[in-house]
Amino acid sequence: MSDHIIRATAADGSIRAFCATTRDLVEYARACHNTSPVVTAALGRLLTAGAIMGSMQKSEGDLLTLQLRGDGPMKGVTVTADAGANVKGYPNVADVILPANSKGKLDVAGAIGPGSLTVIKDMGLKDPYVGMVELISGEIAEDLAYYFTSSEQVPSAVMLGVLMEKNNTVKQAGGLIIQALPGASDEVISGLEQKLSAVPSMTKMLDEGKSPEEILTDILGDSDLQILDTIPTGFKCNCDRERVEKVIISLGKKEIKKMMDEGEPVELKCHFCNKVYEFSPKELGKIYERL
Ligand code: ZN
Repeated sequence: MSDHIIRATAADGSIRAFCATTRDLVEYARACHNTSPVVTAALGRLLTAGAIMGSMQKSEGDLLTLQLRGDGPMKGVTVTADAGANVKGYPNVADVILPANSKGKLDVAGAIGPGSLTVIKDMGLKDPYVGMVELISGEIAEDLAYYFTSSEQVPSAVMLGVLMEKNNTVKQAGGLIIQALPGASDEVISGLEQKLSAVPSMTKMLDEGKSPEEILTDILGDSDLQILDTIPTGFKCNCDRERVEKVIISLGKKEIKKMMDEGEPVELKCHFCNKVYEFSPKELGKIYERL
């Protein structure tokens, strides 16, 4: 089953729900960045949230950025997503190794440490929307739920999970976001809370072979669940040589001359996908001449 997001509503449209399976894109990110298991879990959870929140955007050109920053050894994770649920991301430190937490799980909160979550929505206006919350758990799902509730005033439930194989590749990944819109009755909300407190973890449900549609049916099936559509999602970086050239140009003539005089090819790496772009002294010379 390739990665996708199911979009649905329930309770007369007063609830909206998204559920995603994202194993392939998280595994792709793991391989790109050669992440340790705890970093794979953090990056995978944020990529999954990014894919879903990307798909929530209204216009084609809208761009969402999620930034986790913390005092822990991983320092941070950055994810961006477009309205087509194309997502990309990178950790600041990819090889963090930590002992399991008290529940025997990958210690994502420990890797991030105390810090903040920033949500940037660039809708092509003069200033992007920026919302920031302090991390309340560091496990990401709770932090995002807190962000939606406090910053956007939309009470939300968020579940995110990444399950590793014994060889540290990604076995399962996915997530869900369920939101109570204005008009959702207290009865609907408390019923939903009850359902959510009884379901197993995201990765457990996926590992049992449940599809996102079946997971939403388990939670909202008796609340007039309406599946609206299926949105494909994937890891996609839009870097290319031209963009990297612009980075070189931004260094200025003096710096480019210095690199040329060193007589060695220069390597530049894309943060998001780790692709390496090499520029020979001759190519640098051509850029220099154009300036
Ligand atoms: Zn790239």
